[in-house]
Parts: sequence; C-alpha cells; structure tokens
Amino acid sequence: MSDTRILDGKAVAAALRAEIAAKVQRFGAKAGRLPGLTVVLVGDDPASEVYVRNKGIQTREAGMVSHEIKLAGSTSQADLLAVVAKLNADPAVDGILVQMPLPAQIDTQAVIAAIDPAKDVDGLHPVNAGRLAQGIEALVPCTPLGCMILLEKAGVAVAGANALVIGRSILVGRPVASLLLAGNATVTVAHSKSRDLPALCAAADIVIAAVGRPEMVRGEWLQRGAAVIDVGINRVPKGDGKTKLVGDVHYPSAVEVAGVITPVPGGVGPMTIACLLQNTLTAACFRSGIDPASL
Ligand code: NAP
Repeated sequence: MSDTRILDGKAVAAALRAEIAAKVQRFGAKAGRLPGLTVVLVGDDPASEVYVRNKGIQTREAGMVSHEIKLAGSTSQADLLAVVAKLNADPAVDGILVQMPLPAQIDTQAVIAAIDPAKDVDGLHPVNAGRLAQGIEALVPCTPLGCMILLEKAGVAVAGANALVIGRSILVGRPVASLLLAGNATVTVAHSKSRDLPALCAAADIVIAAVGRPEMVRGEWLQRGAAVIDVGINRVPKGDGKTKLVGDVHYPSAVEVAGVITPVPGGVGPMTIACLLQNTLTAACFRSGIDPASL
C-alpha cells in the first residue's frame, strides 16, 4: 500500500461550514441582518429535490436565511424570468440559485444572464465568468472553489506546479483552470479532442478530472506523488443489480501512485454546498460594504 494521503472532503466541508457559521454571526452584528439565499427549483426532478433540500438544511444550520421557491415543470421562461427579477430587486436576498437542469422550454443561458451578477452565487453569470477569466474579484462557481480549498488544505503547492485540468465546462473545467492560473500554476486544459491524455497526465503535478467518464484516468498515467482531485460523479452498475458512485479517476490504481487524492464519494462532492454558503456570505458582504476578510 502506498503512503498516499486521502483527502476527506466531508471533514474539510464540515470545518468550512462551522467557520462560515461563526462569520455569519459576526456579519449579523455588523450589518444588522443575516445573509439570505433563495433557491429556485423548476419541476420535480428527484435528484434536484434532494439537493435543494440539503442546501436548505445547510444554509439554515449556518445561520443564514433560506428560502425555496418551487415552480411547476411547465413554468414558462417569462414566468421564471419574472421570479428572478423579483429576487434581484429584493434587498433581503443576497444569493439566487436557479437549480439546473431546467426543463426544455427554458433557455438556461437567458436565465443565468438575468440574475444580478452581485447575487450570482453559482458564479455562472458571464460577468462573473469574465471577471474570473481576467483575474479580478468575482463570485466563483462552487465546485471549482471547493477543489482549490481541498488543494490548500492538503498543503499542495499550486504556484509553479504543472496543473492539468481534464474538461472545459463552464461549470467546472474553465473556472478551475482560471483559479489555478490565478494561483500561478502552469495550466493545461484537456478536452475530448486532446491527443495523448496519458502523456499530459504524466507531466502534471496536479490533475483535476472533471469529465463525466467513469474511471477514465488510470493510475499508470499519473506522475508518482501527483495531487489528484476527482470531480466526477458517475453512477455505474455494481454487478449485483445495484449501483455505486465512482469518479472520473480509477481510484484503486490511482491511490497507489498519487501523493494526495480525493475519493468519490466523500471528496469534492461535500465541498460544493459548503462553497455555496461561502459565496452567499461573500455576496452579502459585498452588498453591505463589509470586507469579508474583516469577519
Ligand atoms: P460536462 O459539461 O459534460 O463536461 C465534460 C468535459 O469533459 C467536456 O469539456 C468534454 O470535452 C470533456 N471530455 C469528455 N470526454 C473526454 C475525453 N475522453 N477526454 C478528455 N476530455 C473529455 O461535465 P461537467 O459539468 O464539467 O462535469 C464533469 C463531471 O463532474 C461529471 O461527472 C459531473 O457529474 C461531475 N460534477 C460534480 C460536481 C460535484 O459537486 N462534485 C459538480 C459538478 C459536476 P469537450 O468540451 O470537448 O466536449
């Protein structure tokens, strides 16, 4: 067995939530109000319902004001945009999150673009994406933020490292590449048209896999001692008629080679909601003229 460190995302996320809860109290004392997050759920997708419920529980546990707006799956784009406009105008709302995926009749990009960038706690609005790409202060997508916090907690040196991001989605790959660049890594972004992924992996001190292909990245591809952050969440058959979750990295072989690795489940996943809470507090601070670092 190797001496690989396995990063416990559940523990890191719990510690982060506790830190945020303490800061929420200090924010309340300064601002005379509590940060507020509103999640909008359109339709009754069971996975989204569970996710939204967990968001609500964790938001309240952190001492913030949590609201959920549930709309029918048949809701029109105009009606959803009207809800977003109302939330944009509500001074008690610091964060707006419209749960994805949205029903087919709704243009997702139009909805993202309608959210006030100052309340865009998902960090997906083109203004926030552009600010992040330009290296200026922005609300950053939650999962990429979680990846960076995990690297920091593991003591991985980002500055000067060769970092490989596999995947270029606006949700994970692109923003995590921008964050690594901001941290002075030398960043390579691979995607479905990239040639020789094993060779790219072999040159990487840090590998962030955000592909959506079960166990694609093999231990044999990795540099010994690499830091491996597995964002993938894939449900695959277990062989006994049941299913299990696996990442984009083949964990049994990678754990023998990596210096640091995140498991699936229990790695990046738990960080996402914790970072949503962090973004809500950050948005509340910006909107109230409070320096987040002062909390
Ligand atoms: P996505 O939008 O489908 O993007 C996947 C990316 O992988 C694309 O850029 C695609 O390249 C690239 N890709 C596909 N096949 C490839 C291959 N053979 N070699 C190299 N690159 C390849 O997915 P996503 O939203 O970024 O999510 C990625 C994974 O992370 C999924 O498993 C998702 O469930 C998971 N996820 C987890 C969390 C969490 O909280 N832990 C949050 C979000 C997502 P092209 O651009 O060329 O098509």
